[in-house]
Amino acid sequence: MNNKNVSFEPTFREKAVRRIGKFVKKNRKFYFFGVIAVAVVVFVTALGSALYDNRKRLLSIACVLLFFVSSSSFSYPVLPMDVSFVSDSIRSEDVAGTTYVSAEVDAKDVADLETISIDDQTVPTGSSYTKEDADKDPVYDGNGELLGEVLESDQISISEILNTEDETGSKDIEQEDNDDSVAGNTQFSADDWNLMLVNKQHPIPDNYTFATAQISSGGKLCDERILSPLRQMVAAAASDGVSLVVCSPYRSNNRQEMLFARKVDYYLEQGYDYMQSYTLASQAVTIPGSSEHEIGLALDIITDGYSSLDEGFGDTPAGKWLAQNSYKYGFVVRYLKGKEEITGIEYEPWHIRYVGVSAATVMYEEGICLEEFWDEYLY
Ligand SMILES: [Zn+2]
Repeated sequence: MNNKNVSFEPTFREKAVRRIGKFVKKNRKFYFFGVIAVAVVVFVTALGSALYDNRKRLLSIACVLLFFVSSSSFSYPVLPMDVSFVSDSIRSEDVAGTTYVSAEVDAKDVADLETISIDDQTVPTGSSYTKEDADKDPVYDGNGELLGEVLESDQISISEILNTEDETGSKDIEQEDNDDSVAGNTQFSADDWNLMLVNKQHPIPDNYTFATAQISSGGKLCDERILSPLRQMVAAAASDGVSLVVCSPYRSNNRQEMLFARKVDYYLEQGYDYMQSYTLASQAVTIPGSSEHEIGLALDIITDGYSSLDEGFGDTPAGKWLAQNSYKYGFVVRYLKGKEEITGIEYEPWHIRYVGVSAATVMYEEGICLEEFWDEYLY
């Protein structure tokens, strides 16, 4: 059908095959290669002419395919954004090599540190605490607490805490907790106020409200429902010769926002871009709206002779006592060692969270954190 073929002009294929034929006749030892060369020429020219003859059809198909590929989501994989505890923390780790850091902040923050101490007659080592390192740069814990030495003037005695008026009465609470924990297979409900899960993936609901109570006459607040268990725990520790100093209990959202914004600024000044700064800040200071301190159920506890919020607290008598006994009063060490990838927060032996005696006992016995407890009992 091609005019050139009709006029017997040799095609490219015919020319090539003829040339190869001549070459092979002269060089018989290349016969095998000649055969291969002919096959290749025939195949390539056949393919080429087939493509050329069908060029319009193939172009149409390519256009249709291109349209579907470009318009569907699979060609643009969506980057995971904080979809799970694990992936989030692993990703965070990659960002800067520094993971779950508690970084330093201005020394003026020391003044902000809210502290309630429980030294006094009941505790043998009473006022052994000194503020010799008070000028040392304080640092934040994973929930934005200011880590550092605690001002002595902020301390309030254990008797003051234990004698503060308490309408609910510790015996009532104790009774409630006992009733609650009688059955080993207690049914937990996701609606239980004390089991509320608050972390980066689970911010505090906008409409969440609770009544606060003063831990002491110093005006430090917590959820009023944990006041009695807290008193019982402090008293029990004191009778074991262990001093527990409560600092940074309830904290308003405004304060959390201020702490977080300052942390982001800190990393921006270090030369990180905004996304990196935000990620790093979220490891050192809880994102506003996702700190347990904002729901009044979390407390940071230090002890006489050791007033820094760092891992070393876990080795103090108070740190060990809390790890072993706090569950009896409904409290758990919220950010356990080895669970960093699940909680997204570094090991914090000082950060105590109220979950109720039943749940705390389960978590203590199984060695699980609150996220794992939810996975196991509440989802
Ligand atoms: Zn804390």
